[in-house]
Amino acid sequence: MEESFPMTGGDGPYSYAKNSNLQKEAAENAKALLVAAITKNLEINKQKICPISSSFRIVDFGCSTGPNTFIAVDTIIEAVSKTFHDHVPEFHVFFSDHVSNDFNILFTNLPKDRTYFAAGVPGSFHRRLFPRASLNLAYSSHALQWLSKTPAEVEDSSSPAFNKGKIFYAKAAEQVGEAYRRQHEEDMASFFNARSEELAPGGLLAILMSGREDGSSPAQSSLGPFLAPLESTLVDMANEGVISHEKLDSFNLPIFSPSPEEIRKIIQKNGCFEISRLELQPRTFRPMIITPEQCRAGFESIISKHFNDNNNNQNIVDQIFSRYSKKIEGCSPISADDKSIATGLFLSLKRKS
Ligand code: SAH
Repeated sequence: MEESFPMTGGDGPYSYAKNSNLQKEAAENAKALLVAAITKNLEINKQKICPISSSFRIVDFGCSTGPNTFIAVDTIIEAVSKTFHDHVPEFHVFFSDHVSNDFNILFTNLPKDRTYFAAGVPGSFHRRLFPRASLNLAYSSHALQWLSKTPAEVEDSSSPAFNKGKIFYAKAAEQVGEAYRRQHEEDMASFFNARSEELAPGGLLAILMSGREDGSSPAQSSLGPFLAPLESTLVDMANEGVISHEKLDSFNLPIFSPSPEEIRKIIQKNGCFEISRLELQPRTFRPMIITPEQCRAGFESIISKHFNDNNNNQNIVDQIFSRYSKKIEGCSPISADDKSIATGLFLSLKRKS
């Protein structure tokens, strides 16, 4: 069963719409790579990719609620238009995310002066969402690190991969990281299989996601430093009896940061794509921590699904985030030199003919 934990909807203080600056900055850092991937690859055979009679079809997988998706789409359309010079095609843009994503706020915030036709496509990107060979360019930013589910072993007390007292694979036993890596491999293989059917020959796939250095083990290098204060908050609450240890042990974030080499193997196994670029982004971000608002925008839905039950109410979720606020007051910000944090991974692929 596919799990789905959308970003916090609406446009309130804890919404993704108001708290997605980190992802925006990372996309800005990768903008030149995205534009180059488009212009370089589309120049080669654009008429074959998009005959003048049909529209140029773009999709953003894991678009969330905006505004980052609108910025990305504008960048993509500008780059594609440049390569078509005076024969610019009409653009059809598909905004795709889980069914539970707040598509209402996404549609409400669609730019009024947009130069494209827009549509929403609900469903998981781990399976087919479009007709065969119907897409010209697929994009995804900061979404593919989400797994389809938490690997079962990490919540099984009889397994060597049981992740007791932790919420993630950072600094966990090697078997925990391995279980996550296997789940990620399976999910990415499903993603590439679906896209290899949907992309037209010569079509492009550009991905920005979190990644870690080649040669590092998952436990060594991950989003761990960002998530440590949340883990520590939940451990405190279990130790004080506010939540049960059982609840803590059965909570694991289904997120994974792969290395370029891990991604390369999955693409090669698929066989339908040519790799144009596959690289880690330099760590350019300033020292920081995830603010309570950013943490809530990203994780409120998964936390509330797990920790809210009939005996307690929204109260427990508020308590988790209010303790998180206090917790980070005592944390030193993470520096860009810290090699143990994930960085951006940029990937551009071309569907073989
Ligand atoms: N692309 C945006 C939003 C990233 S937030 C940006 O860069 O700011 C991650 C998004 O991925 C969320 O909206 C989440 O619902 C979506 N997502 C995660 N797993 C998904 C899946 N299997 N299928 C579709 N969307 C998914």
